[in-house]
Amino acid sequence: MSWLPLLVKASYFVAALLFILGIKRMASPKTAASGIRWAGAGMLVATVATFFLPDMHNIPLILAAVVLGTVVAWWSGKRVAMTDMPQMVALYNGLGGGSAAAIGAVELLKFSAATHAGPFPVDGAAAAGIPTTALVLAVVGALIGSISLTGSVIAWAKLDGRMDKRFVFPGQQAFNALVFVAALVLGALVVWGLDQPAIIGFFVAALAVGVLMTLPIGGADMPVVISLYNALTGLAVSFEGYVLQNEALIIAGMVVGAAGTMLTQLMAKAMNRSIASVLFGSFGASGQAAEISGAQKPIEAGDVAAMMAYAERVVIVPGYGLAVAQAQHKVWELTQVLLKRGVKVKFAIHPVAGRMPGHMNVLLAEAGVPYDLIADMDDINPEFPTTDVSLVIGANDVVNPVAKTDPASPIYGMPILDVVASKNTVVIKRGKGTGFAGIENALFYADNTRMLYGDAAAAVGQLVSELKAVDGH
Ligand code: NDP
Repeated sequence: MSWLPLLVKASYFVAALLFILGIKRMASPKTAASGIRWAGAGMLVATVATFFLPDMHNIPLILAAVVLGTVVAWWSGKRVAMTDMPQMVALYNGLGGGSAAAIGAVELLKFSAATHAGPFPVDGAAAAGIPTTALVLAVVGALIGSISLTGSVIAWAKLDGRMDKRFVFPGQQAFNALVFVAALVLGALVVWGLDQPAIIGFFVAALAVGVLMTLPIGGADMPVVISLYNALTGLAVSFEGYVLQNEALIIAGMVVGAAGTMLTQLMAKAMNRSIASVLFGSFGASGQAAEISGAQKPIEAGDVAAMMAYAERVVIVPGYGLAVAQAQHKVWELTQVLLKRGVKVKFAIHPVAGRMPGHMNVLLAEAGVPYDLIADMDDINPEFPTTDVSLVIGANDVVNPVAKTDPASPIYGMPILDVVASKNTVVIKRGKGTGFAGIENALFYADNTRMLYGDAAAAVGQLVSELKAVDGH
């Protein structure tokens, strides 16, 4: 082996180390940003090293693709709003799956050409020198990558509000199963004979499976689905890495696959759902959700300020609306005023508050809220009964008690923050709008809940001024 391929392999090893160390650093909010940079550096090393592999062709075309991809990703990454991040993750993740499927397609067509070369077709892939393992993995990787591509695009369209949240028809699961079996049979035919019509049919069926699987999934299940496709993309990349005999792809794919699988399980657990029920069941029951009686009771900012100023314990519950309003800095200002008065303040974070896992943690960290004020759902839930004021800011589904009380509700079974158990609750939101799941919230009608209507940033700003007035500043 000459020194150049050895150097490439050594670089791949360094890249793999950087990926793994980067992921490790992402485990804590303090080191997460540097973790992203480490993993990015790993990706740069792997990409540059690949150019030095022997038999690299079409360098100008590859460079053009790299430049184009970098410009588009840089531009879209800079301008995407934090609240639109899940859509973007879904789309980019789908493109990863698509790339794996494209590698599979190219390799299978190459295998096919080698098998059918010459006036007389060579007798089977083995005779053409194609290892069966590589052939099978090319097909499996292409299947998974194709599903991940089209599934992620549908997830993106749903999250971006371009498509109805759920699309169901009678016999849907049976029909989907049939298309999946067709993809498997066509995949087996590809392995068997490497005929071009079988390859084309296989890809059409595989791409259709991704669309069909994702259409019936809706609402609150979407984060789990995106994370699942992320894991699948990793797996597909790693299989195609084996086909290309490229260690960097194998390791990067495995890391993404493993991390994605763990994240999927964590999120499913946080929503009290099994992966199977996310994919094949519909969230919640199909019955008629119970009517919520009573009325929402408004309150003025001055009264809320007085309640909080004389409270012993305040719990702040951030949600998607806080992110939309970019109210995190105002909220931290409010917290500081309260802390100065001797009020004990904590933040309660639901695992799927906002629109992506960790959304609220990122926002609060950005505003400088110390980590020891932030509590997870399981830790804070027992504390609500002794909380004088819970201040819900732009959160809705994650504090909706019907998830526990109404078996007919679409979010029944999802664990929630027990805000309804607090002594007093104040909810800041603009009006009577529903949350992501599109349902009424019983908390807003509870006896001890008051509604402070307005944009989160403006309303919290008012609270800060009113509190400062209480203090006589
Ligand atoms: P929700 O989406 O349930 O509710 C947000 C609320 O914020 C709305 O009721 C809205 O009411 C209010 N709001 C919107 N804009 C503003 C504003 N500018 N100022 C004040 N209030 C505002 O948020 P939650 O965080 O409670 O729940 C997250 C939901 O998203 C869950 O259903 C979850 O499953 C889902 N999801 C989560 C993902 C994740 O990974 N975290 C990913 C995808 C979905 P109004 O219009 O009246 O102001």
